[in-house]
Amino acid sequence: MASTRPPATETADGVAGWEAALAAELAEIDANSLRRRIETPESGQEPRVQLGGQTLLHFTSNNYLGLATDAHLTEAAIEATRRYGTSASASRLLCGSTPLHEQLEARLARLKSRERCLLFSSGYLANLGVISALAGPGDVVFSDALNHASIIDGCRLSRAGVAVYRHVDLDYLETLIRRTPARRRLIVSETVFSMDGDLAPLPDLVELAARHDALLILDEAHATGVLGAGGAGALEQLGVADASAVVVGTLSKALGSVGGFVAADGPVVDYLINRSRPFIFNTALPPAAVAAALAALDIVAAEPERRARLQQLSTRLRDGLASAGFETGPSETQIVPMIVGDADDALAMERRLRDAGVLAKAVRPPTVPAGSSRIRFNVMATHEPADIDVVLDAVT
Ligand code: PMP
Repeated sequence: MASTRPPATETADGVAGWEAALAAELAEIDANSLRRRIETPESGQEPRVQLGGQTLLHFTSNNYLGLATDAHLTEAAIEATRRYGTSASASRLLCGSTPLHEQLEARLARLKSRERCLLFSSGYLANLGVISALAGPGDVVFSDALNHASIIDGCRLSRAGVAVYRHVDLDYLETLIRRTPARRRLIVSETVFSMDGDLAPLPDLVELAARHDALLILDEAHATGVLGAGGAGALEQLGVADASAVVVGTLSKALGSVGGFVAADGPVVDYLINRSRPFIFNTALPPAAVAAALAALDIVAAEPERRARLQQLSTRLRDGLASAGFETGPSETQIVPMIVGDADDALAMERRLRDAGVLAKAVRPPTVPAGSSRIRFNVMATHEPADIDVVLDAVT
């Protein structure tokens, strides 16, 4: 989209000019059915949510295991707040840590089979922080075409060269690597893709990275807590838990809290502590968030049945949509897309679902490629099979 913005000036006219240009751009966004708006539920992230006076079945939450509303997490957060207060009040390097931060890093390192772990304020900042620190001018980052915006932004911030490879196409990736000279090579991929719910071919990717002496960075945002026998993620699920890779994750999805992390070998973590600006110049996570994530890890370890149930419910939805003739793409997880094509059609389907009491959002460009607008259903382990059937009835 060509920008119509005038140059900034400090005169009153200049400000009015800016605002007129922004309004024109927003009108264009509206005309393309791409306007984004915030809707605020009146209740927490439960399978049933209050929104605009309606009770709706909630299919847009990343509260995959139901932990964000679990009493153990709430109590842990309250207890940590009583003990340490509401804010860390400083960055980690200025003593904003609590013992809980150190415990959580140790637990996450163990879960991810890495030597060490470093917390960030969000998964977004973890991706920004790890890619921009580890890659620089003269290096090349090879990035899957469907990687999340935080990975794309991390690549941009790094000022390294970026080579985007076709989604999970490792032959293409190898061709690109062979033809791209670089001081150092990095490969970055999500392990469960956020818009399609498919898995990266991790064993082959690990092997390819080793063959080309490339550093592999894997974002387990949608896999941590959800996949693998112990909930470690897609690396565990696909039998490569010990593979050489830097692992990124978030606390804000299955772990029911907020924050991000990077798990890696000791020298990588020490380097990030010294060079990663989103780590260095950002206030540490609040104690409540850290304590909630610790409580979540206990449940992830103790209750594998939540993962099993999540998979069963997701399969029920995916199979039901497919037998009703809908395209669900390569999804294998709790993220189930129903691809409808045009942004307008996706919005019409969103309205139809809403009328039937189902909250599921249309995802449109630029979040997904043009022509692949979709409804993205996020299943939670706390849904009932009957909830899935309400969705299937609504769309058929
Ligand atoms: N990586 C991926 C793949 C994501 O989907 C997201 C969140 N949508 C993030 C990173 C960012 O995580 P957070 O919300 O904790 O910033």
